[in-house]
Order: sequence, then structure tokens, then C-alpha cells
Amino acid sequence: MALEEYNKKRDFSKSKEPKGKEGEDKQIFVVQKHDASNLHYDFRISVDGVLKSWAIPKGPSMNPSNKKLAIPTEDHPMDYADFEGTVPEGQYGAGTVMVWDKGEYENPKDKSLSEQLKEGHITVKLKGEKLKGGFALTKIGKNWIFIKMKDEHASEKDILKEEPNSVLSGKSLEEI
Ligand code: MN
Repeated sequence: MALEEYNKKRDFSKSKEPKGKEGEDKQIFVVQKHDASNLHYDFRISVDGVLKSWAIPKGPSMNPSNKKLAIPTEDHPMDYADFEGTVPEGQYGAGTVMVWDKGEYENPKDKSLSEQLKEGHITVKLKGEKLKGGFALTKIGKNWIFIKMKDEHASEKDILKEEPNSVLSGKSLEEI
């Protein structure tokens, strides 16, 4: 709805400007399994044209009773969501990066995600291949807690063990 006016004013067969899509439709997230000095999972979500990022040392869970520590890291460019490969030794974050999960997300609240971020509590509905349904990130001191919300997708299944490979290439960390 917010982009209705933007779209009405433009002829996209003539202009190369991007067609305005409803925000929610092009909102993406990625979880990258990163075999750096310590194996961890980087959760990234698009907000205002960048990927807001957290490192989750023990990885995400589909079980609402598992609170996962999430350490905020620097914003990443949108293109990073497709990066899978090896960061050479001696470089920042050296090690193998796998696209462990990826998909779109919805913001179920009226408040924008950037506003929610400022307030230290975000709620998103993830539509990944592995992570599905409601998740919340809550700031506690310097760090955040990543948690699955109770819904029909919640489960006790150990997705880290049962679905260890890339959603992009199907490869394992060793194969990348
Ligand atoms: Mn990392």
C-alpha cells in the first residue's frame, strides 16, 4: 500500500527504476553457517537496505524453550545473502561460509522493523526452508536473545543436526 503512489507515477516498461514492491514481499533473511575459529551461525535480516546481523554461537532452534545468545555484528550488504565460499586465512572471518537457510520474512507488527530494532525487540515471521514461523530477538544488555515463538511450526526437532547442509548448493561445510 505504501508504494502504490510510487508505482502509479511510473511506467516500468520505460523507466529502469525498480518497481516498488510491498516491503514485506522483498524482505529477506539468511542464516550462514560459518566455520571460523569457532563454528557459529550468522543470522542476517534485511532492514532499510542492509542486512542487520547477529552471530548465534549455538545456532538457531525451532524449540521455543531454547533461548539462543545472539551477538550483534556489523551490517552486511544485501548481496551477502548469497555468499557461500571460503574466506581465506588471515582475513577477517576466515573460514567456510555456508548459506544454511534463506527466505523471505514478514513483519507481523504495525511498527517498522528499524523502529523495533531501536527499541530492542523485534518480531518476525520467517519463511525459510528450515526456519519457519514466528521468531523474536530481544536485547538484553549488550547482547540479544534469539527465540522461536510458539506456533504451529515450533518443534523439538534438532534442525542443526538433521539439516546440516546448504539450501543454496546442498553441500556440506567440507564440500564447500
Ligand atoms: Mn560469522
